[in-house]
Amino acid sequence: MTPTLTPPEATAPPAAEERCDRCNAAGKLRVVLAGGGELVFCGHHANKYAPELVKIAVEAVAVPGFQWRGTDLTRNAGPLAE
Ligand SMILES: [Zn+2]
Repeated sequence: MTPTLTPPEATAPPAAEERCDRCNAAGKLRVVLAGGGELVFCGHHANKYAPELVKIAVEAVAVPGFQWRGTDLTRNAGPLAE
């Protein structure tokens, strides 16, 4: 394990240079999985996979200005409710 300056709970939104894991477009959403992995999705894929992501993610952080569909999905039920 490499120590970092960022507390584990402070997940940052994707940086400008981070790319979607599916199509290589600019990342708009970072998803932290229950197993500890992370995924980055563009706006298109973040919304496309939202129904699945809300089931497997423990945290999801969108870049400012991006309205992720999953936020609405978790409002009713799911582990991401704030
Ligand atoms: Zn994509």
